[in-house]
Amino acid sequence: MAKVYGIDLGTTYSVIATLDDNGMPEIVVNQDDGSNLLASAVYFQDGGDPVVGEVAKNQKDIEPERVVEFVKRYIGKSDAPTYEFDNITYNPITVSSLILKRMKEYANAQGHDVKDVVITCPAYFGNEERAATKQAGLIAGLNVLNIVNEPTAAALNYCCREFKENRKIMVYDLGGGTFDITLFDFSVDESGNALIDIIETGGNDRLGGIDWDARMYDYMCEKYAFENGISQDDLDVEVQHKIKAQTEQAKKDLSTLQKKSYTISYDGDRTRIELTREDFESRTQDLVEQTMDFVSTLLENAGLSPNDVDVALLVGGSTRMPMIKDAVEAVFPNKVRVEDPDLAVAKGAALAAAIQWNERIRQIIDNDGETVADPVNPDEKIDTNLPTSAAEAKGAEIAVIDIMDGGTVSDKLTRSLGPAVFIDEEHYMIDNLLFVGDEIPAEAEAVYGTRVDNQAEIKIKVFENVVTDRENKYVKPSIDENGDEQYTDPALKVKMIGDLRMELPPYTVKGTPIRVVFRSSAIGLEVTATNLENGESANTTITTANTMTANELDEARTRFANIKTSGQI
Ligand code: AMP
Repeated sequence: MAKVYGIDLGTTYSVIATLDDNGMPEIVVNQDDGSNLLASAVYFQDGGDPVVGEVAKNQKDIEPERVVEFVKRYIGKSDAPTYEFDNITYNPITVSSLILKRMKEYANAQGHDVKDVVITCPAYFGNEERAATKQAGLIAGLNVLNIVNEPTAAALNYCCREFKENRKIMVYDLGGGTFDITLFDFSVDESGNALIDIIETGGNDRLGGIDWDARMYDYMCEKYAFENGISQDDLDVEVQHKIKAQTEQAKKDLSTLQKKSYTISYDGDRTRIELTREDFESRTQDLVEQTMDFVSTLLENAGLSPNDVDVALLVGGSTRMPMIKDAVEAVFPNKVRVEDPDLAVAKGAALAAAIQWNERIRQIIDNDGETVADPVNPDEKIDTNLPTSAAEAKGAEIAVIDIMDGGTVSDKLTRSLGPAVFIDEEHYMIDNLLFVGDEIPAEAEAVYGTRVDNQAEIKIKVFENVVTDRENKYVKPSIDENGDEQYTDPALKVKMIGDLRMELPPYTVKGTPIRVVFRSSAIGLEVTATNLENGESANTTITTANTMTANELDEARTRFANIKTSGQI
C-alpha cells in the first residue's frame, strides 16, 4: 500500500509526516539526531555531499560562509540571493530542494518510499512563492500533490481528532516574522465526512517573533547602559553585538521564567543585568494588541462575535509567550488550545496529502485510467506512486482517520488575479478576474477586443494584488514624477507575475474578440487566450522572474538527481 507524506518546509525547522495504518498522522523521525525536526540549514562542505540539519546549523560557528539558512524568507521573491559553492550556483529554490531531499532520504532509509507529497506554505504566500515551493519539491524528485496553507494544515490536524460535529475554529499563528489568522468552518455532512472551509483570513506578514526580539534588544541595552551609568547611545558596537547574540534566548527564557539574569562581558568588565517577564511584557504589550486588532477585524469581516468561535488554536513558535495565550484567552475564555506547536502543520499536511491522493484515485477510476493532468505542470516527468490504470487504482485509496475519509478541505485564493487592459492608447488598468477568497480551483474569463487594425500580436500582462471589492475591481496605475505608470500602493501588493503573447493573423480588425481564461490552483495560474474569430489559442503557465523557467527547472532536476545529502559531516 502506497503512502503519502506531508511536509512542513519551515524557515528554521522542517518536519515530515505520514499516516499510520489507522489513518492517523505520525511523524517520520529524523534518525540523524533522533528528533522529530530537521533544522532547515545546509552546510556546503568542501568536496562532500551537502549536509542538512542540526549539524549544518552548528557548523555556522566554524565556517559561517558555507552554511545557508532561512531561505524560505526569499523563496520566489525578487530579492532572492544566490550562493556559490564549488562552482555550483544555488538559489533559495535549490537550497530548499536539498532540505526536502534530506527528509526524503532519511525517511527512505527507514523503509519509506517518499514520492507523493503535500508541502505547506504560509497563507500569505503569493503565486510566485507557491510556484517556487513546488519547484523545490520537483527538483527533490517529489510529486507535489498540492501546496496547502499552514493554518489549514494545523486546523486539519486538530479537527481530525477532536470533532464529530460542526465547529468554528480560529487559528492564531504567530511565527518568527509573520502573523496569520484564519477562521475555519468545520462541518460534517450526512455521510459523516468532514468539510473544512476557510471563512476569512487576515494578518500581517511583517509582524512576528523578531519584533519581540527587537524590543528585547532595546530592553537589554537600556539595562546595560543603566548599570554602567552611561547613555544608551554610547554603547560600543562590540557590546551591541554581544547583547544581540543573547536577545532571542532571553526572550525564550522569559516564556518559562518570571525573571533571569544575564552577564555581558566587555573589555575585561562583567555587567550583570536582570530582566523580568513583567517588564518585557509591558514593553511589548502594543505588539500583542496589534495582533488582537487583526483578530477583531477578522471577526467583524466575517460578521461574527467571539462567542461564535468554538476553538482558538495557537500555532507558531511565538505563541509560547504566555502573554499571547493570555491575550487570546481574554477574548476567547476557555477556548484556547495549544497543541503540537511544532508538529501540527506537518501532521495536517499528511492528512491533506491522503485526502488529495484519494481524490486523484477516484478521478483515475472515473476517467478509466486517464490520470488527470496536473493543471499547472501538465507534462512533467514525475516520479509517483499514483496508479496509471483504473484497475490498479481500485482499492488504492489510503486509509484516513474516519471522519476525514472522503473529507474535503477547501482552500481559497490569497491574491486577486487579472490581466492589464488598455483604457486608451497608452494607459492600462488591471481588470481582476479572480479574487482573494475565491475557492480553489478557481476559473474566470472575459472577452476583450484587439486595440487597433492590423495588430500583429497581443500581449497579456498578468498581475496579482489583494483588491477584494468585486464592484471596484479595477486597479488603476498612478503616474510617477517621470510620467511612468507605477503601481505604487504597497498595501495592494500589486505585482506583475508574467505575460502571455499570441500572434494575430494579418488584417485582424480592431475589436476582434479575444477570450481570456484564468485558471488557478493553490500552486499556480494558467492563462489561456483564444482568438474567437479563428479559434486559435495560446496558453501559458505563469512562471516568473522569481521562479525557474521550464528549461532551468529541467536542468536543475537533472543535476540535482545525482546529489545526495547527508546528516553528518
Ligand atoms: P516558527 O516560525 O513558528 O518556527 O516560530 C519561530 C519564532 O518563535 C521565533 O521568533 C522564535 O524566537 C519564537 N519562539 C520559539 N520558542 C519560543 C519561546 N519559548 N518563547 C518565545 N518565543 C519563541
